[in-house]
Amino acid sequence: MAARAILGARSLSAFTGAGISVESGIPPFRGKEGLWSRYDPRVLDIEYFNANPEDCWPVIREIFYDFFGKAQPNRAHLLLAELEHGGFLKHLITQNIDDLHYRAGSRNVIEFHGNSRRLLCRACGRRYEVAEVDLRQLPPRCGCGSILKPDFVFFGEGIPRDAFARSEECAATTDVMLLIGTTGEVYPAAQIPQTAAARGALIIEINPERSAYTDRTTGLFLPLGAVEALSRIDDLLREER
Ligand code: ZN
Repeated sequence: MAARAILGARSLSAFTGAGISVESGIPPFRGKEGLWSRYDPRVLDIEYFNANPEDCWPVIREIFYDFFGKAQPNRAHLLLAELEHGGFLKHLITQNIDDLHYRAGSRNVIEFHGNSRRLLCRACGRRYEVAEVDLRQLPPRCGCGSILKPDFVFFGEGIPRDAFARSEECAATTDVMLLIGTTGEVYPAAQIPQTAAARGALIIEINPERSAYTDRTTGLFLPLGAVEALSRIDDLLREER
């Protein structure tokens, strides 16, 4: 049924969260085994960062560049990239900042919370690819002398305007949305699938366990991990095509 809905979709979209990257070895932030059980989340609080960038940057480097940088996209990321290149997937919205969709080959990615791939100078607006910045010297600085910040959303910051507008456009036009590895607890991101569902879009939820979406928003619930669910859907798509 999921495969038929995907094949019949006029405007297929996907909305992903931390659960899709768990099988790449990236733990979620929340929960008992989450990153915030090991690290102080204050390093990503914008006011704390602004006041103490020298203290925050070593932790940020360890989590987002040493650790995330070694993670590889998994089959779920790769299959979503294939769906995009095959012309099936119109929008891919991710709440993740781990850059794994991009590294899997997806190019039309709406990065709702920004990404760790780039660093931003808030003084002059210049952005740098992380590969062109020497992170052995902390904190990293822009050519203008100001301290760089990862180009993702810190606690206390707003959602990037462009990503928000494109996500709302997706919610207003999609007729089938794959909800993958996201439990609907982080706002305003959680509103996007809710808006699509309220308009009548079919929400296909892929999560190992039930979530805040399952009863109210989801039309079809697949109680599976992301890799297994997308692999099965891919097999069915190949049969039906
Ligand atoms: Zn600058």
